[in-house]
Amino acid sequence: MSDTIFGKIVAGEIPAEFIYEDDHCVAINDIAPQAPVHVLVIPKKAIPRLADAEAHDQDLLGHLLLAAGNVARQLGVEDAFRLIINNGEGAGQTVFHLHLHIIAGREFAEGHMAG
Ligand code: 5GP
Repeated sequence: MSDTIFGKIVAGEIPAEFIYEDDHCVAINDIAPQAPVHVLVIPKKAIPRLADAEAHDQDLLGHLLLAAGNVARQLGVEDAFRLIINNGEGAGQTVFHLHLHIIAGREFAEGHMAG
């Protein structure tokens, strides 16, 4: 599936620098970073939204969390990073191919849940 910009990126149809890649996902720097470290972990399988994931995606979803931890360690931010998944337009999702935002490198307001 390569119907979104991320589908095209994971399929290699649009060039992008993969800072991490394994059999099931890639990681790229966000084109419009909201923090000094802003990386997107994108599964190769195109699931539009987290809410569209099904029981058979369980291993993949776990894999994405492990991959995010690996990427955080690779970037040296494993002690302070935030993971964000925007699900649906109303929550700010703009690309309908599931992805995790790794945000790090700035102070997080204590108890603050967003961004
Ligand atoms: P969403 O709002 O869907 O959770 O996140 C989409 C993210 O993808 C945004 O942070 C946006 O800056 C980023 N983005 C959109 N198009 C591209 C692109 O072509 N390349 C990269 N690296 N990031 C993109």
